[in-house]
Amino acid sequence: MSNVALMRFTARTIACAAIVAFAACGGGVAADSRQTSDSSTTQEADSAGAKRESAAVKVDGNIPLGAAVLLRCYPSFVKEYRDGKLEMADGSTIVYNDGREKSFVEKLDAADPEDMFAFDYNMTASTPEYLQDAGRSRCEALFKKMYGSSAAAVQKHLVSVNWFGQRLQFTNVNGAADSLRAVAAELARHPNLKKHLRSSGTFYWRKVRGAQRQSAHSYGMTIDIGVTNGGGGGDYWQWKNPGKSETAKITYSNHMPLEVVEIFERHGFIWGGRWYHYDTMHFEYRPEILMYEKLKNQQ
Ligand SMILES: [Zn+2]
Repeated sequence: MSNVALMRFTARTIACAAIVAFAACGGGVAADSRQTSDSSTTQEADSAGAKRESAAVKVDGNIPLGAAVLLRCYPSFVKEYRDGKLEMADGSTIVYNDGREKSFVEKLDAADPEDMFAFDYNMTASTPEYLQDAGRSRCEALFKKMYGSSAAAVQKHLVSVNWFGQRLQFTNVNGAADSLRAVAAELARHPNLKKHLRSSGTFYWRKVRGAQRQSAHSYGMTIDIGVTNGGGGGDYWQWKNPGKSETAKITYSNHMPLEVVEIFERHGFIWGGRWYHYDTMHFEYRPEILMYEKLKNQQ
């Protein structure tokens, strides 16, 4: 297949796959249904998604899948992909792929948008595969642009979410707070899970322990639950493997029921328990990771 034909094929595949995936991507559905009305049907949401997707893919006929997914999941901020750059709503641009060969740690510490899709988010494996940490890689320029570049800037967007009697601060940017409310509503139908749900925190402007990059908790779209976990305790890779480096082989441990995880994932949240460097208390609003995983498997 010639390069041009291959590019056309790829673009078409992205467009079709994204439309198919729209109904299945929790974050996407939640975001779009809010823009219409509570009674909007999946069909209406699908056609709205299809329109936006075809507009996005038309730009130059050769959009990397990760860029197409960012356009779809963050339409208020990521407006176009052109000449290798994401064009943002405020007129600035972010280079999609800086072209640098990166080590595992560099993909976390110096991520461009492309690096965010370098890892597998495997929703079927019983334990995460070696160094597969999808979602731990975050392009800081992109996240600071969307959620705020300082504690004060992020705090301006925080709203209160009732989480089983706890009042949590969560960002309303990208529909994250409404998505968390939808998670709570669905979890409330499963009283047997309640003992796993107590939150130990959401917003906290800080660096990742032992690193220079910003923690996802800085952006207000992340929640920790289940630290006490009905007596089971939370599982974090450094607690279970003290002194191990980021590239060492480590042992896995989890006490969070998958039922809880699947409800979060339906609403656009990824789970830290699917990371090789696991953090089973951690849920983070990252609809692009879920959509990318679905689309790449359809190609
Ligand atoms: Zn966390």
